[in-house]
Amino acid sequence: MGSIIKDNYVIVQNPINHQEITRLEVFNQIKVDNIILESKQYSDWANLSLSKRCDYIDCFRRSILRNKDEICAIIKEETGKKDFDILVELFGLLEHVKTISKIARNALKKSTRSSGLMKNKKAYVLYEPLGVAGIISPWNYPLTTPITTSVEALLSGNNVVLKPSEHTPLIALYIKKIWDDNINFKKAFNIVIGGGDVGQMIVDSNNIDVICFTGSTKVGQKIAQICAKTLKPFILELGGKDPMIILKDANLNRAVESALFAGFTNAGQTCISVEEVFVESNIFNQFVELISNRVKKMSSGKEDNMEIGSMIMDANFNKVNEHIDKENHKGKIICGNKGIGDMYIAPTLVINPSKDSRIVNEETFGPVISIRSFDLEEDMIKMVHQTGYGLSASIFGRNKSRINQILKQLKIGNVSINDVFTHYGIASLPFGGEGLSGFGRSHGKEGLRSFCRIKSVVENRFSFLNEPWWYSRSKFVDNFLKIIINFLYK
Ligand code: NAD
Repeated sequence: MGSIIKDNYVIVQNPINHQEITRLEVFNQIKVDNIILESKQYSDWANLSLSKRCDYIDCFRRSILRNKDEICAIIKEETGKKDFDILVELFGLLEHVKTISKIARNALKKSTRSSGLMKNKKAYVLYEPLGVAGIISPWNYPLTTPITTSVEALLSGNNVVLKPSEHTPLIALYIKKIWDDNINFKKAFNIVIGGGDVGQMIVDSNNIDVICFTGSTKVGQKIAQICAKTLKPFILELGGKDPMIILKDANLNRAVESALFAGFTNAGQTCISVEEVFVESNIFNQFVELISNRVKKMSSGKEDNMEIGSMIMDANFNKVNEHIDKENHKGKIICGNKGIGDMYIAPTLVINPSKDSRIVNEETFGPVISIRSFDLEEDMIKMVHQTGYGLSASIFGRNKSRINQILKQLKIGNVSINDVFTHYGIASLPFGGEGLSGFGRSHGKEGLRSFCRIKSVVENRFSFLNEPWWYSRSKFVDNFLKIIINFLYK
């Protein structure tokens, strides 16, 4: 069992042995409101120059690095992840923070624009902080997800109120301690503890200026409705059903290994994990044979030689098992092994699941990959879009013009070609989904600017004359304009 909320406490438990690690008091409305209000009134961080903020974030990154062993230990205890998965998460965070800080130095500085014909005017854009960013995050990457978006909001000059998932709150609290111990601006980065109701307090608050939510589509839709009432800006990073498309000329060995890594890493509890594979029919049997042979040798469990870690959260564990649905998928399931422990799910393939099965129609979020074949590209594209999700996809093949044709047709936010996952690790690329997978972007200059008031400014160079088009103009101006329009825009 993962962590639970009981009697106003988050009881944080190790998902593998069910031992209580600690309990944390859930914040009530008054406490949450006070933290948000204090944050609203705090301007020291926003008043720093951009370059100083970037310097502090670089210092924050080094402080995180110095505490890496403790960070890894906390994540392991509250998630049951494999050591390598934790290391990848830590690496992902450090790489992101380092690169996004460099990007911010340019992306957020005053940007001079052309004033076109109006040579007497300076035109420029200012990227100003919006105020307080409410960041609400899930449990699957409890370090990388909340801290990358918090750092983006901070670089943009906002103060942050972060609510980590109630299932994995400890690592965010530890990162807050690192911030407080090393950075002089304690009030710029705040944490509140609790479940969905505490998340909703943040969304509801008039003192929150922008919401960055990562989590399920269901909750994301609720948040969008609340934000719509006041047109509060929001970024929604939601669920996915990420397809891998394998064309007949693909390097099959690479495609198999990519599918396994992207389907099973973090026990499949990854928003951009490969959930379904579409294989061109002429190589379908060969692909299924290759991947089946590999999966049969893989295992989920505690031992070091087992590749796949624990499920983190009860409800998700149950859902994944329902999707595997041994009755419904009789004869279509190929499984690896499972070690001792009730929160492990063996790596699983479901070959040709029926169209109406849950595994085809819902996000699974576990170490399970479904595999289907296709003959016609147009049918495959329809299947890819069927759920309405559009987070990420991958295409494997050698024919570049065919790949580009498919790429054009995908209503998906992030696409990898002959690769998977890596786009998330490239901090300069904006990240986000289409359709039910979300709204807006994090990462890259687009992500940094999502946390900004983008202020366009025009400044007159010489102001001793009236503009010729104002009401005091002579008839000459009207005639001149008629002539000049024809001349300029023919
Ligand atoms: P969830 O939606 O249940 O919870 C996410 C967060 O929202 C938690 O902190 C929760 O307490 C809070 N919350 C719940 N109800 C709320 C409400 N009414 N108002 C405000 N906050 C509320 O999701 P989860 O189970 O924690 O995470 C799994 C989901 O997250 C999956 O669908 C996964 O695909 C998605 N996810 C997406 C990304 C991405 O970048 N697109 C990344 C990681 C996870």
